[in-house]
Amino acid sequence: MEPLPEVTDPRIIDGRKIAQGIEAEVKKEVEKFTNERGIKPALATILVGEHPPSKLYVKLKHWACKRVGIASEDHKFPQETGQEEIIELIETLNRRPEIHGILVQLPLPKHIDEREVMMRIAPEKDVDGFNPLNMGKMLIGREGFVPCTPKGIIRALEEFNIDPQGKEVVVVGHSNVVGKPAAIMLLNRNATVRICHIFTRDLKSHTREADILIVATGVRGLIKADMVKEGAIVFDVGITWQDERVYGDVDFEGVLPRVSLISPVPGGVGPMTIAILMEHTLMAAKLQSGEK
Ligand code: NAD
Repeated sequence: MEPLPEVTDPRIIDGRKIAQGIEAEVKKEVEKFTNERGIKPALATILVGEHPPSKLYVKLKHWACKRVGIASEDHKFPQETGQEEIIELIETLNRRPEIHGILVQLPLPKHIDEREVMMRIAPEKDVDGFNPLNMGKMLIGREGFVPCTPKGIIRALEEFNIDPQGKEVVVVGHSNVVGKPAAIMLLNRNATVRICHIFTRDLKSHTREADILIVATGVRGLIKADMVKEGAIVFDVGITWQDERVYGDVDFEGVLPRVSLISPVPGGVGPMTIAILMEHTLMAAKLQSGEK
């Protein structure tokens, strides 16, 4: 992919810059933790199949580990691998004390039950926050390991000193990975939240009300200018690969004149997600060593 141009428009959220800030902090902390405790935080990734974007995302995660001084292990399986084999590896990784975080790259092939696999990751190593225990804690407002993408969005809001309390938030997409946890995390911060999805009637009537609009559908260009409120803050999570390029769910050029802030694709939510994963791996290493 070609390098991204410098972000100069103040309305555009520079996800790479926010990610660099998070990674710089993690790097410093990792160094301190390793020096003091003699423990190097370590992440193990599991990739099943040959899906090119998934291979790229895993590679980007390993590069990030390298940048911040986290050790990483790459476990790859062919597409036809059975669920039991993946679970067996997870259980081995759960038992290995030198591995602190386990990440299963989604989506998994159709014959594997994603939820079953996620349940097998030890909650204290669940750096992606998909284990039901961590999900449940998030639901009752005790956020520990939460899904990295919505946490990146929360971090971006903090970066711009935007308090979600009392704001109208509309989340388009209701997956366990992005939509639902984004909605819950904003609800935890006292926003008024509604969740839209494929079966929502008249999507526009909802999105037009949003002070903060989060779109995670994977439908390229779904959100057009007339679906966005004047002055809204828009997070475009969607990624569609077409002809070696990525596109978001928002018609960026059309929507930009209406918004006060918008995250672009690429260069928005993606890099922040990876930076949060680094933060979580450090957090996991600290927790497992008895540090808070
Ligand atoms: P998913 O396929 O599990 O869920 C898609 C959601 O969009 C569903 O809730 C569905 O009901 C909704 N939807 C689909 N078409 C719609 C329509 N026409 N109108 C309204 N709602 C519609 O996907 P996901 O895992 O939540 O991911 C969503 C997108 O975000 C994908 O493009 C994915 O690649 C991307 N993603 C990006 C990051 C990142 O780090 N940037 C992380 C995770 C996912």
